[in-house]
Amino acid sequence: MDIKIERTTAPKEKQTENLGFGKIFTDHMFIMNYNREKGWYNGRIVPFGSIELHPATTVFHYGAEIFEGLKAYRRADGKVQLFRPIENVKRMNSSAERIGLPQMPEQDMLEAILKFVEVEQDWVPSGEGESLYLRPFMIGADEHLGVHSIENAIFYIIASPSGSYYTEGINPVKIMIEEEDVRAVRGGTGYTKCGGNYAAANRAGERAEKKGYTQVLWLDGVERKYIEEVGAMNVMFKIDGTIVTPMLSGSILPGITRKSCIEVLKDAGYKVEERLLSVDELLAALQSGTLEEAWGCGTAAVVSPIGQLYYGGQTYTINDNKIGKVTQELYDKLTGIQWGKIEDNYKWTVQI
Ligand SMILES: *Cc1c(COP(=O)(O)O)cnc(C)c1O
Repeated sequence: MDIKIERTTAPKEKQTENLGFGKIFTDHMFIMNYNREKGWYNGRIVPFGSIELHPATTVFHYGAEIFEGLKAYRRADGKVQLFRPIENVKRMNSSAERIGLPQMPEQDMLEAILKFVEVEQDWVPSGEGESLYLRPFMIGADEHLGVHSIENAIFYIIASPSGSYYTEGINPVKIMIEEEDVRAVRGGTGYTKCGGNYAAANRAGERAEKKGYTQVLWLDGVERKYIEEVGAMNVMFKIDGTIVTPMLSGSILPGITRKSCIEVLKDAGYKVEERLLSVDELLAALQSGTLEEAWGCGTAAVVSPIGQLYYGGQTYTINDNKIGKVTQELYDKLTGIQWGKIEDNYKWTVQI
């Protein structure tokens, strides 16, 4: 694939303190256009800046937007690496297929990501737990208001140096089980990373925040009975020694961290079940003391222990509000591989 590079003449000064998340952006961005007749064309890396779009552009009216999230990590030897980027590429295409946006050949999308990180590699921070967060995204870009299949699209990649998720240590989070709103149903877009899923989640998220909870835990959209996932993380429970996580039913996001956790857990000898898990079964396990650990898993936090659950007007505490042994093991193993501190026997990392 031909990628033109136009370098900035005004590089920004790189902030090294208080990076936060998604607030600072690098010097460049990747852009590529799509037209049904021409296919993908004009892949380019240009100075970072605002995007000018026609006010009738599809994305503003009918929500055709999908995205991905992955990180570039700086190893102790200074080299930069990505974690299972091909999985993000595959999921982006799966999201595109569902939303009616164009797919891109896997090797081309991977090449775009790798080339972009190569250009921006000085922006990959080196502090403990820090990384360069990469945000590929795609929008429908037809310039008319008719509701039609999408003929034009634009693919972008932007990058943001981000601080450690755990600046104050790994503290368990408080999660509210949402009983009113639903995020997704089978046959809908729940398994895609599309902006619309997040729009549908805003109201419940705000309610949870007002009550002092970090995120919402969603139940299935039909029976409101089965556990699905947390805001932007998949969820896992250790019940009586067995790891239980909701199966991928079509309404849950197939997380790359989820998939990696399952592989690592199985290899460590744990029994892992991907199945339906009702909120009743979870509460029964809480009451009988067999719910030993609970955690969310996603690229941003890697794993995030759940210390408290709110459901039906009651608050339940898990594992004395402390991080559990398995959660800690997963955190150490995955972050070890991602930052190149331990050997990557899985061949999950890709060096720049
Ligand atoms: C991105 C995301 C996840 C986590 O996926 P990873 O690939 O592990 O980062 C989980 N749930 C939702 C809704 C997401 O958007």
